[in-house]
Amino acid sequence: MPKAYPAYFGTYSKFDSIKSFTNGIENLFLIGRNGMHKYNNQDHSMLTAITAVNNIINGVKTKDNIWNINLEDEYHEEK
Ligand SMILES: Cc1cc2nc3c(=O)[nH]c(=O)nc-3n(C[C@H](O)[C@H](O)[C@H](O)COP(=O)(O)OP(=O)(O)OC[C@H]3O[C@@H](n4cnc5c(N)ncnc54)[C@H](O)[C@@H]3O)c2cc1C
Repeated sequence: MPKAYPAYFGTYSKFDSIKSFTNGIENLFLIGRNGMHKYNNQDHSMLTAITAVNNIINGVKTKDNIWNINLEDEYHEEK
């Protein structure tokens, strides 16, 4: 299945540019696995959605708490 796994190579080193740009769009929330191009599991993916909704409800403008979910960018299935 194409794009089943987020790839951490190629232009990934420039990902912060995309993150900064999209963070600047107040009503755009990148969440989930493909949305954040991040090796999220189901629990992480759901937590990013829950956190985004809580931010909207509580008027929190920063998206840092969403990006801080699943910070360890390791492959969870590796031994
Ligand atoms: C092989 C494999 C095994 C995994 N095993 C586990 C596991 O054991 N435990 C675990 O916790 N996680 C596992 N995961 C990870 C888990 O599947 C993901 O973290 C989770 O599904 C991500 O949820 P999501 O909502 O971000 O994205 P998704 O579940 O991928 O949902 C995105 C949805 O958006 C739809 N979509 C895409 N583009 C468009 C469009 N243009 N318009 C409308 N709809 C669109 C897609 O069809 C899809 O239904 C596994 C993943 C893979 C690939």
